[in-house]
Amino acid sequence: MTTMAGKLDEKITPIYQEVLQRNPGESEFHQAVHEVLESLGRVIVKYPEFADHKIIQRICEPERQVIFRVPWQDDRGEVHINRAFRVEFNSALGPYKGGMRFHPSVYLGVIKFLGFEQIFKNALTGLPIGGGKGGSDFDPKGRSDDEIMRFCQSLMTELYRHLGEYTDVPAGDIGVGQREIGYLFGQYKRITNRYESGVLTGKGLDWGGSLVRREATGYGTVFFAQEMLRARGESLEGRKCVVSGSGNVAIYAAEQLIQLGAKVIACSDSNGVIVHEAGIDLDLLKQIKEVERRRIRDYADRCTDARYIDRGNIWDIPCDVAIPAATENELSGSDAKKLVENGCIAVAEGANMPTTPEGVHVFQDAGVAYGPGKAANAGGVATSALEMQQNASRDSWTFEYTEKRLQQIMQDIHHTCHETAEEFGVPGNYVLGANIAAFLKVGRAMVAMGLV
Ligand code: NDP
Repeated sequence: MTTMAGKLDEKITPIYQEVLQRNPGESEFHQAVHEVLESLGRVIVKYPEFADHKIIQRICEPERQVIFRVPWQDDRGEVHINRAFRVEFNSALGPYKGGMRFHPSVYLGVIKFLGFEQIFKNALTGLPIGGGKGGSDFDPKGRSDDEIMRFCQSLMTELYRHLGEYTDVPAGDIGVGQREIGYLFGQYKRITNRYESGVLTGKGLDWGGSLVRREATGYGTVFFAQEMLRARGESLEGRKCVVSGSGNVAIYAAEQLIQLGAKVIACSDSNGVIVHEAGIDLDLLKQIKEVERRRIRDYADRCTDARYIDRGNIWDIPCDVAIPAATENELSGSDAKKLVENGCIAVAEGANMPTTPEGVHVFQDAGVAYGPGKAANAGGVATSALEMQQNASRDSWTFEYTEKRLQQIMQDIHHTCHETAEEFGVPGNYVLGANIAAFLKVGRAMVAMGLV
């Protein structure tokens, strides 16, 4: 549980109080809402029409929330019951779009925080996608392929009726990669008797997927870091970097950092940290995590000059650039202080809301270039929207072309956040820049569409 670090405008305080009252016990959702509302005081002064139309109150209330039972059988025949969620938060800009998360920590408050963030992130991409998110408290760790398949099939047997390429388009997130998307897509196709490629993104290349989608979130986060540094006359070349996690986002953030001449010296999982001062061996990391689906500890067993710190804190490792790419609230106020003391100059969030509110303020007060997740990791969903474009036109683009589109989108997002922060009198504050630019876009669309 974290405390909210900043103050709200006096006109916005009652709106936040109502959010607390209407959504009891959902601390992550409260945190995400508070962070956005902190940015909006300046907006309602300049544009009072948003208050007249109650746009803030409407944005904080999901358009639809679905909660359902997922019964499935393990390999021994034992029956398990999980709970799944799909929160269709806001469709002002397009169909609901956002990933599915499979992790035992999932409950409604986590999915609502992620869905809320997704509205603003998707708006920043400039592409026609609304915000949504889903998931289940199912724990995929240690489960066989057959068990994962049966779980995904059972989940989709309910979820399919809420989806559609013009309605709601899920993708992956923690615990959901291409394997799970395959099982979900197969069951959707079977139930609906439709080969509707645009209903899910993150698909395999042979069946409607897009090149660069796998790499997109990690690559995009690094492109955003590069832009933040460029705006200060700096670069990533030769920088020492640490990347938390060792999943999809972490691996491809590390890959792009290395391609841009930086050195990645540490990564992690929920059990421990690997430090490899000579630079992480990406092929070995991919072999262990993507091919063998094993734990990060194995890296040190196979690479003698790397060390494994059981239960270690990755933010204790001195670095120039930090990329949190594991999960929410993984980087506390004291972790942020440690990073600043150790000379960290930039933080780009690959994960969603990985830095606590105290941590964010530590970075901002210290003048660290800090890119919040909803801007920095938007490359994943942006490339999902590019996958939808390719599906709609029955086309497939080359890696080079798709990567160029991703890079341009990340540069545009950086530019939008940077310019908006300047316009509202807070230069260099990417949090305010992102929140305000995204809110204006969604808010204007909602006003235009009337009271719906
Ligand atoms: P993966 O499941 O591929 O990897 C998650 C990684 O984070 C694993 O190394 C995992 O370790 C670690 N992790 C998860 N939970 C915890 C925890 N409670 N404490 C410590 N480590 C943890 O997920 P992704 O890489 O897809 O997602 C990572 C982050 O990026 C999430 O915040 C997600 O919402 C965000 N994101 C993902 C996008 C995507 O396209 N995939 C798009 C935008 C944001 P372990 O194996 O030990 O659990």
